[in-house]
Amino acid sequence: MSTTTPRPIAFFDMKAQQALIRAEIDAGIARILDHGRFIQGPEVDAIEARLAEFAGVGHAVGVSSGTDALQIALMAEGIGPGDAVFLPAFTYTATAEVPLVLGATPVFVDVDPATFNIDLEDLSRRVALVEREGRLRPRAVVGVDLYGQPANWPAIEGLCEKHGMFALDDAAQAFGGALHGRRLGAWAQATALSFYPTKTLGCYGDGGAILTDDAERAELYRSLRTHGEGKSRYEVLRTGMNGRLDSIQAAILLAKMPLLEGELAARRRAATWYEAALAGQVATPQVAPGAESAWGIYTILLRDAAQRARVQAAMQAAGVPSAVYYPRPLHHQPAYQAAHARGIEAGAPPLPVSEDLCARCLSLPMHPYLSEEDVARVARAVIAGL
Ligand SMILES: *Cc1c(COP(=O)(O)O)cnc(C)c1O
Repeated sequence: MSTTTPRPIAFFDMKAQQALIRAEIDAGIARILDHGRFIQGPEVDAIEARLAEFAGVGHAVGVSSGTDALQIALMAEGIGPGDAVFLPAFTYTATAEVPLVLGATPVFVDVDPATFNIDLEDLSRRVALVEREGRLRPRAVVGVDLYGQPANWPAIEGLCEKHGMFALDDAAQAFGGALHGRRLGAWAQATALSFYPTKTLGCYGDGGAILTDDAERAELYRSLRTHGEGKSRYEVLRTGMNGRLDSIQAAILLAKMPLLEGELAARRRAATWYEAALAGQVATPQVAPGAESAWGIYTILLRDAAQRARVQAAMQAAGVPSAVYYPRPLHHQPAYQAAHARGIEAGAPPLPVSEDLCARCLSLPMHPYLSEEDVARVARAVIAGL
């Protein structure tokens, strides 16, 4: 037995990154303390310009979180009671929460067993079922780029166009991902980003943004994030919310932007090391043709729940962190069961892939500051548990 304790491996690593840019962060915060414009200060305008440029999209609107980005985007379409919003059953809860908060009905769609993203055949089947029942209007599809891998946006867009639906990209895990050489941001009519600290671009609190190529939508988002205000502050044009991004979070993001390109490359490199160390032993992530993952989360698939439990135990014994994203499909969550039953009342197809993935998926440490030796240690711990 070795007597030296190996370097701890972080699941996400915000400290290594902070050490590189601490001076810029301190200076950015100091500038805000001096100018005093804590809400919608010049840092917010600056980060919006940088985000739009990075994503190659016309407009970026900073908001208070990824969840609020989704909500504002759906509010702008007037989505509410009587509307069906289609979204994958295998995602984070926020994707389903937002339509419910607005009074709309989430319709859960199964995911593709290879990419874990929304399954187009199942999506079009469920849209047809909702149309046939005639109780709800199919209004929007929220596609999620799960773990950083872009969903099949050309196909989602095509289906949305055919049925007059709004296409919203939940890219909370995927900022920096690309499809056919073009970054996420303009593939859907609007793209929601989260800057939760552990995302590929994270601040030190809550934050988010909405990207769009549509100038009218961008203006609507700016109004909605500030209580529906008009040209002057005390003119209220519509029911909005308090959904603003604050200046200090924008300053953190500005300090991090110069690192992002290199960090995305480091994530790709770590994914390559995992692939080399684990291929043939467990099911490693499959990236769709033309897709470039942002590698927000690295997830393998075990044979069954029992094998996953053994691997988790072996990793814990080796001092290596792991996590399950997500242990329960959304249609099985107590909060969403009633909505699930309401979406398609008769003959709703089951969601077997989402249920299966929840039982077998396991996420491994993933961040830009993993060394090849760190990845080798994680892989050894995984293999020891098989
Ligand atoms: C993180 C996340 C969100 C929510 O983002 P917040 O900034 O935490 O509100 C929404 N959807 C997905 C898929 C996420 O991973």
